[in-house]
Amino acid sequence: MLVYRLPGTLDNEELTAALWEAGAGGLEERQGFLRAYFEERLPLAEYPELAGGEWLIEPDRDWQADWKLGLKPVQAGRVTVVPSWLAGEVPATQTRLIIEPGMAFGTGHHATTRMAIEALSALDLQGESVLDVGTGSGVLAMAASLLGAGRALGLDIDPLTIPVAFENAELNGFTRTPAGLTRTGGGLLDFAEGTLDGESYEESERYGVLVANLYAELHDLLAADYREAMQSGAPLILTGILENKLPLVRQALEREGFTDVQERLDGEWALVTALN
Ligand code: SAM
Repeated sequence: MLVYRLPGTLDNEELTAALWEAGAGGLEERQGFLRAYFEERLPLAEYPELAGGEWLIEPDRDWQADWKLGLKPVQAGRVTVVPSWLAGEVPATQTRLIIEPGMAFGTGHHATTRMAIEALSALDLQGESVLDVGTGSGVLAMAASLLGAGRALGLDIDPLTIPVAFENAELNGFTRTPAGLTRTGGGLLDFAEGTLDGESYEESERYGVLVANLYAELHDLLAADYREAMQSGAPLILTGILENKLPLVRQALEREGFTDVQERLDGEWALVTALN
């Protein structure tokens, strides 16, 4: 890798413009020096503003490997979320959830996903039915299933997320059957394109837990549908809510008659729990 290094910062537009014009493939600033990456050593004499630098030959970097090194396991309650190459690093006392970082939201690194897994983890999900609205990578439905849910369904309006969720489920030992995904000793897990659409359900079809990592305005719109999809007394877990939007969610839950509304914050993000 060929680097031209000279004193300066990325704020110096004259320098950076000259480097780009000279054919740099990338620019970086480190400790008061600008580093410009080139394919070949160029005669920079035509650019007097670039005088005073030096050419360095550095070992090639594997950016993909560097990026992978930056990803750490995420512990959220009883669950640790890891990409497949860190699967061996999860302590035996934790429930291991493998999520391959990819096309869909939900690697566990975002505060909202982490808080939602913590909230699921605080419940006794043994044999429970769990609905995950806005499943993304499938992370929350899968966490619920691995924590013992008898039935978990992840819905998402984005069709691109569904194959990703299925692939993640397979990485976690689930196999596809006509009835959904199954795992030895585990319950049924499934993913489908869709959302809550104002349907009314028989009590027997309703879910024992509903979790949704969306955003405040959507929680407001869907609050009545959440109630309709849940068994009476069932816990509701909502996140994706910015702290300043908490009043909107609070009002929506109050309006629909949810009880025991509780909130917690992680940075600017909030998680709200309530009982139907
Ligand atoms: N559940 C994952 C997590 O906690 O990391 C992903 C959450 S991501 C913030 C929100 C997901 O909700 C996206 O995949 C998006 O496509 C989906 N979504 C947005 N609006 C929706 C709706 N009305 N119904 C169902 N899914 C929706």
